[in-house]
Formats: sequence, C-alpha cells, structure tokens
Amino acid sequence: PAEAVPQAPEDPLFGLMRAYKADQSPDKVDLGIGAYRDDNAKPWVLPVVKKADEILRNDPEANHEYLPIAGLASLTSKAAELLLGTGAPAIAEKRVASVQTISGTGAVHLGALFLARFYKVNGASRTVYLSNPTWANHHQIFTNVGVPIEQYPYFDKKTKGLDFEGMKASLTNAPDRSIILLHACAHNPTGVDPTPEQWREIAELMKTKKHFPFFDTAYQGFASGNLDRDAGAIRYFVEQGFELVIAQSFAKNFGLYGERAGCFHFVAPPSPDAAEVATRVASQLAILQRSEISNPPIYGARIASIVLNDKDLFAEWQENLRTMSGRIITMRQALRSKLEELGTPGQWNHITDQIGMFSFTGLTEAQVQKIRADFHIYMTKNGRISMAGLNTRNVEYVAKAIDRVVRD
Ligand code: PMP
Repeated sequence: PAEAVPQAPEDPLFGLMRAYKADQSPDKVDLGIGAYRDDNAKPWVLPVVKKADEILRNDPEANHEYLPIAGLASLTSKAAELLLGTGAPAIAEKRVASVQTISGTGAVHLGALFLARFYKVNGASRTVYLSNPTWANHHQIFTNVGVPIEQYPYFDKKTKGLDFEGMKASLTNAPDRSIILLHACAHNPTGVDPTPEQWREIAELMKTKKHFPFFDTAYQGFASGNLDRDAGAIRYFVEQGFELVIAQSFAKNFGLYGERAGCFHFVAPPSPDAAEVATRVASQLAILQRSEISNPPIYGARIASIVLNDKDLFAEWQENLRTMSGRIITMRQALRSKLEELGTPGQWNHITDQIGMFSFTGLTEAQVQKIRADFHIYMTKNGRISMAGLNTRNVEYVAKAIDRVVRD
C-alpha cells in the first residue's frame, strides 16, 4: 500500500534552484543550474531559434500530429551528420541507427535500457564505468534499468585537471567488454576534458580491452564554439571502428532546454552486414521507445530540424554558438584575473583551462555553505559553478566573495 512509500529526498540541483528563488537579497547570484544566461543574467532565446519559430508558425502544413516512433527523420539524419561529419563513411554505409529522444536524458536512458537488454554475457548485464565525478543523473539512469555501476578516477583534486593515470589504470583493470561512459566534450561537472592525444590513448586502451564506448554529448558547439572540434573524440572513435552509442542533447546548444530535443545513435563497426545490424538495432529501439513514450515531442525537433537543414540558418546558428561560448570564455578569463589580482590563495589557472558550462572551483563544502550564507551566491556543494551565471556586473562580486571564503 502507498502508506509504505517513504519520502524521497529532493533533487539537490532543483532544491538549490528553489532556495535561490526564495532569496530576497538584491546581490544574489545563481551559479547552480546549467543553463545559459546572457550578460543581463537572463535566459537567451537564440536569434536563429526565433527565426525558425517564425518559419514554423507560417507553415500552413504544420500541425499537431504524432511523429513516427523514431521521431522526425529530417532531424535525426542531420543530427547524425552533426556528430559524425557530413560524408562520414558510417552514414554512407548505413551503419548508424538514430532515434529521436526526450532530450539528452531520454537518450542516455534509451541507451542504458538497450544495453541492459542486449549487451549481456551469460544472462548478466555488463557493468558501466562512470567517471568520478559525473553528471549525477547517470547513476540514477543506469541503476533504474539494472545496469551495475563502477567508477573510474577522473578528476585530480591536486591539479584540478584530469587524473589520466588513474583513469587508464581503472579502464585496464575493468573486465573486458565493459561499458565506458565518456563525456564527448565539456565534462560535467568538472569542465576537464582529455587532450586529443589522451583521447587517442584512451581509444587504444579500450580497443585492447574490447570495451564499449557510450558517449554522452550535451555541449557540442557550446563548449569551444566549433561544432567539429567538440565532436572530435566521437569522430575519432568511430574512425577507429568501434561499435558504440551516442546520447545527444540539443538543450544547451539550441537553448531548447524545456522542449526536450535530442537523439540516440547506435553505430555498427564496419563489416559486410553492418547495415543489417543497424536495421535490427533500430527495430529494437523502436519497440523500447513505443512502450515508454510512444513517440517523441515535435516542437523542439522541428526547430532544430529547420536550422540544421538550411545553409543560412545553420551558419547563423554557428554564430549564436560562438556568442554563447565566447561570453563564457570571457567570464572564465575575468574570474581568473580578478582572483589573481586579489592575490587569492591558491592556483586559479584551472578556471581558464577548464571548458564548457561548468568549472570545478575547488571550494570545499564548508566554503560553499559560507559563500551562500554570507554573499547569497549559490553553487552545488561540490564547488561546481555554472560559468553562464557570471556576467560583467557580478564577476567582481563573486571573485571578492571567493577570496573572502578562501581566506577564512
Ligand atoms: N548529459 C550531461 C553530461 C549533461 O550535462 C546533461 C544536461 N545537464 C544531459 C546529459 C542531459 O540534459 P537534457 O536532458 O536536458 O538534454
């Protein structure tokens, strides 16, 4: 009976958002939630998205019918090209199975569910290795579908960079054919990515161990401002002939957070029957999708599809991506130089070395509590800050507050 249902804890991130909203201080700063804000601390509807919306509203053929189970084909095909590159052999050889999902979360879930069903040995699911730390939802998603979880070292607290040796040792010691979850770029929550050379080593190691790469990409184009560069790791692994899957979100790079636009892709390794493998996988993904959501949401998919299928709008989107990533990079530089000007104890180069939406500041949980209590600055308790919450008016205030809590 429902009486036996225990109270679950509030999601920490959404709890933080609630506390920020309730705070009456005029100085308050939200460095919690991972959503882009402009220099006025306001959500930003991408100008290209406004144009696509206008096109959609004036389309006499547009209606509110269901999409097919696999979603909007004009989106999923372009989404695969965006990841793998136009003219990618995997696409030409029809080795890719793509399904539109409920944003990146839905894509990770569909991938996890698919692997729970079909990636077994002697009836048991393979273990998934998650980076320590990772996006907290990864733990919940894989647990929900019964895939066992292990962690591999990722963040080096001393250097505030990658613990590459720890990561490699862990992947080497993992049983062969384990699932390895990799953030394609702009690792959440640390902002620390492997270098291209390190990616090559990871691929080599994973090939030897026959590991299965599960890429999560939520920041393509948003991280560096360059769509191709941010897909570099995925493209390299595909070129290396891995069988792999990719969860793709359009939340950040299109600013379509609440519209839940995303895709899941399976890529079969090159072989004479690879296209048939991809077709069979697509048929199973459709069965799973049908029982969970029947078919994915249409509005965000149409917006992204309009932009991805039009040369001029695509160019404008890249410009919008450069605006967002450029502002964030400028804020990284501003925060670092203010801290260095203040002579704040410690090294601050990691603020500009890290990439994407987040920075792992290195503040302790006690310092995070203090900065919230004394300065009304909100961040997750692991010291992660959303760079998009900084702007030209509050960056000095935030730097001074960090300086104070670090010295205390
Ligand atoms: N993966 C990672 C690593 C993320 O940071 C996010 C966004 N916070 C997602 C997936 C998915 O987000 P969404 O479901 O909003 O696309």
